[in-house]
Amino acid sequence: MHNEEFADNHFIRTIIEDDLKNGKYQSIITRFPPEPNGYLHIGHAKSICLNFGLAHIYGGRCNLRFDDTNPEKESDEYVRSIKEDVAWLGFQWNEEHFASDYFDMLYQFAEELILAGKAFVDELSADEMREYRGTLTEAGKESPYRNRSIEENLDLFRRMKSGEFPDGSKTLRLKIDMASGNLNMRDPVIYRIRRVNHHRTGDKWCIYPMYDYTHALSDAIEHITHSICTLEFEAHRPLYDWVVENVAAPSRPHQYEFSRLELLHSITSKRKLNQLVTQNIVSGWDDPRMPTISGMRRRGYTPAGLRLFAKRVGVSKSENVVDMELLEGAIREDLQATAPRLMAVLKPLRVEITNFQDGEIQGKIAPYHPENAEFGERELKLSPTIYIEQDDFEEIPPKGFKRLTVGGEVRLRHSYIIKCNEVVKDENGNIIKLLCTVDFDTLGKNPEDRKVKGVIHWLPETAPKARVRLYDRLFTEERPDAVRGEDGEYRDFIEFLNPNSIEEITALVEPIALTLPPESHWQFERLGYFVTDRFDHTKDKPVFNRTVTLRDTWQKK
Ligand code: ATP
Ligand code: MG
Repeated sequence: MHNEEFADNHFIRTIIEDDLKNGKYQSIITRFPPEPNGYLHIGHAKSICLNFGLAHIYGGRCNLRFDDTNPEKESDEYVRSIKEDVAWLGFQWNEEHFASDYFDMLYQFAEELILAGKAFVDELSADEMREYRGTLTEAGKESPYRNRSIEENLDLFRRMKSGEFPDGSKTLRLKIDMASGNLNMRDPVIYRIRRVNHHRTGDKWCIYPMYDYTHALSDAIEHITHSICTLEFEAHRPLYDWVVENVAAPSRPHQYEFSRLELLHSITSKRKLNQLVTQNIVSGWDDPRMPTISGMRRRGYTPAGLRLFAKRVGVSKSENVVDMELLEGAIREDLQATAPRLMAVLKPLRVEITNFQDGEIQGKIAPYHPENAEFGERELKLSPTIYIEQDDFEEIPPKGFKRLTVGGEVRLRHSYIIKCNEVVKDENGNIIKLLCTVDFDTLGKNPEDRKVKGVIHWLPETAPKARVRLYDRLFTEERPDAVRGEDGEYRDFIEFLNPNSIEEITALVEPIALTLPPESHWQFERLGYFVTDRFDHTKDKPVFNRTVTLRDTWQKK
């Protein structure tokens, strides 16, 4: 990877460059800190490219850290998928950590805070705590348990740990400021009692640390220099700073925020994506219509294409809402250079060549990629019966139609010019086949007496069949999770599913399809980019997924 592959000149780079120049750090350490409660999505791809990209550009390090402090929703399956996705995107983490590996240390820091008189065991119920918290305009009230002695706090906290108290009956809170203008600073809870099995620590703990506390200290333990997160954590930064400044933390990390990526016609929330999976609306987290990294991979998106997209969306604090077209454009750009081409006929129309003479017909050797000879070549030979695309023939052609019409001519890609002389229909008037003649003098050259403008793709009758899945956007609304009804309430995003987001057809393809491994990227000439399915494709029964059409077809609809 080259430095130019990553977003340039953004404010975080400026900060890092200053920090390195001023000698604040000799080298930087970043981290990507997912919670293993779902599969990664396109928003995470941006964060991965940013964090790993910065480490790459400045010769630093980047850790992968699982922020696993919510045992109910976390699992090893998610951990595995996250590792696979980060690696697939092209990044190798320096160290792999789990916040749960720090539970003992975090517990020690909490005792340290109690001993310093900076934390207390509270017994307010969740409802009472909400009441005491105050509002944005009104200061909160101090808990009646706030002024217990250090000894009592330490004793109660130890007994919380050893399982003496029921779930939810006590919490450990920081003693900061109930009148703070920042609600996060009003004596935030840092431990809660919860008897749930953790995917790594099992039943060892019945108290779990809260996210803000855990996150800041995990950064400090790993000597993270620049802790980069999304803007919704801006108001948590004072708490982050408070935590790392009030314990004997191994280092002093700093948090910087950038704006979250939002992709139109899509959803970037693990919780909502999870809903699509559990309600069987999609076939799984890796359904090719999902904006998850594993879904996009199965759809045929490429790591280089996603990295190009991440570079183009940039890094800033202003709104980062982008159209699907920006993503699709980056994918096309990568595939244009890297995917060889074949002909496929998705909706076949039979064409019989009435003047076919075997001795006259020559096959043409055509390369699989027009600019890159390394992809090789194959011979394309006309046969007495061929198939063309139904859309490439019109009995009553609209103005400007350059493809085949009755009495008209068209060139077959990499082959001869044919002329349609007759349309054959069944009793219901449906076209069943065309009768055409071939001009034997047109292989590799144009006729001198007339111009034939159109070129269409085709395949001989012997072409093998493949299952082809045509995917479209999953949602019809730009922001499916931000539509309000007449009552002003948000409507359920499930209402805005695109009913035509998948169509499966049987198509004709070139014989090379029967030799391809899964995840082979090809352009079907004139139709789009396709990939052999990662799981369902076999050499006997090829299955292709449409990655993206050649042009943006959505805008026209
Ligand atoms: P979700 O709301 O989908 O669960 P999250 O922010 O809770 O997302 P985490 O697993 O906590 O998911 O995120 C890991 C990292 O990825 C965090 O640093 C987070 O800021 C970043 N991230 C998550 N979503 C986006 C996004 N849409 N754009 C950019 N970065 C994101
Ligand atoms: Mg989260």
